[in-house]
Amino acid sequence: MDLFEYQGKQFFARYGMPISDGEIAFTVDEAVAAAERLGTPVMVKAQVHTGGRGKAGGVKFAATIDDVRTHATSILGLDISGHVVGRVWIEKASDIAEEYYASFTLDRSAKKHLGMLSAEGGVEIETVAEENPDAIAKVWIDPVDGLDEATARDWVTAAALPEAAVEGTVVILQQLYTAYVEGDADLVEINPLILTPEGRVHVLDAKVTLDANSTFRHEDYAAFDETQTRDERETAAHARGLQYVGLEGSVGVIANGAGLAMSTVDVVNQVGGSPANFLDIGGGANADVMAGALEVINNDPAVRSIFINIFGGITRGEEVANGIVGALERVDIDAPIVIRLDGTNADEGRAILEPHLSDSLQMAPTMLDAARRAVELASAGSTASDEGGSR
Ligand code: GDP
Ligand code: MG
Repeated sequence: MDLFEYQGKQFFARYGMPISDGEIAFTVDEAVAAAERLGTPVMVKAQVHTGGRGKAGGVKFAATIDDVRTHATSILGLDISGHVVGRVWIEKASDIAEEYYASFTLDRSAKKHLGMLSAEGGVEIETVAEENPDAIAKVWIDPVDGLDEATARDWVTAAALPEAAVEGTVVILQQLYTAYVEGDADLVEINPLILTPEGRVHVLDAKVTLDANSTFRHEDYAAFDETQTRDERETAAHARGLQYVGLEGSVGVIANGAGLAMSTVDVVNQVGGSPANFLDIGGGANADVMAGALEVINNDPAVRSIFINIFGGITRGEEVANGIVGALERVDIDAPIVIRLDGTNADEGRAILEPHLSDSLQMAPTMLDAARRAVELASAGSTASDEGGSR
C-alpha cells in the first residue's frame, strides 16, 4: 500500500520526525485558503503515487498567494507519468542548505533490514547508485538487534554528513527505523532529508509503502487504503477474491497457482506474445471462480485471446473442466479461449471439454502449444478488428 507524500509525513510525525506544517487541498481555492492560513512562502506539491514530481513540474515554490493560485492551477490535473494530480499538499517552504537521502527496506537475501544513507540527496537514488555508488552508505540491521544509537552514529560518519547534521540525523534515522518496523512498512524513504541554514535536520519528502497484510493490527491504515488509486481491472478482480495484476498486452491469462500463472505469463512472452494480465484463481477451479475470472478478463477491451492454463493437483481435471463449461454457460466471452489442462485426471477433464470445442474454445496438449495458439489468435484478432476500425 503506497502512501501519498502527505500521508507518509503524517505517518512519520507519529514517530516524532520533524515535518513542515501543511494542509491538503483538492481545489485551487482550497490551496489558496490553506496558504493564507499557513502564511507564505509555501510549496505547492502534487500528491501522486509516483516519484520525480519535481522534474515533472509538480513541485513549485510560491512566494505569494498569487503564485499559489497560479501553481495550484497548473499542478491540479497535471499528468505525471500517467498519474493525474487530484490533490496538492501545501506546506510551509523550508530554506535548504543541503539535501540528503535516507531509507530502510528489506534485503531478503541478507535476511536483514537494509538502511541507505547518502549526502547526495534530492536526486534519484538510482542515479547516485549508478554514477557514484560510494556516496551511499549502507547498513544491514539484524531485526533482533534493531538500530542502536552507536550504529546510527557510525553510519552517519560513513556517509560523510557534515558535523552540523550529525546529531539531528542520528535521531531521525532511529525514528525512521522505528516507524519502518513498528509501522509494518516495506519501504520508508526520505529524499530529501535536509539541513537548514539554521542547522536543523528536517524531513522534506516522504515515500512510504505499508505492508497491506498488516492492516489487521493497524485499524487506522484503512484511511490510507481509501486513497489508493488502482487499475479498474484490479479492483474488479480483487472484489471477486482473485489474485490479479493488470499488464499491457492482449493475451488474457488464467492459471491455478501463482507459480503457474507467472510461468504462463513468461511462456506467452517467450512465444512472442504479450500478456494482458496475471491471474491466479488459486486451488479450487469451480464454475463460480472460473466465471469470475473470465468476466474480469472479458471486461478488458485489450484482450484478444484467453489462455487458461490449469495443472490439476488436489483440484482434479474433471472439476476444472466442469468449472469451465459451467462458467461458459453463464458468461458470454468475446475472445477465443485456448485451454491447456494437465495433471490429476487430465484425461477425464479433456473428455468433458471435448464436445464443447470450437473455433472459440480450443484445447492444446502442452503449455507451449497452447501459448503459441493463444498468441496467434491474439494477433489474428487484432488485425481483424483493426481493419474493422473498432479500436
Ligand atoms: P519529488 O521530485 O517527487 O522527489 O519531490 P520532492 O518533495 O523531493 O521535491 C523535489 C525538490 O523540490 C526537492 O529535492 C527540493 O529541492 C525542492 N523542494 C521541496 N520542498 C522544498 C522547500 O520547502 N523549499 C525549497 N527551497 N525547496 C523545496
Ligand atoms: Mg523527493
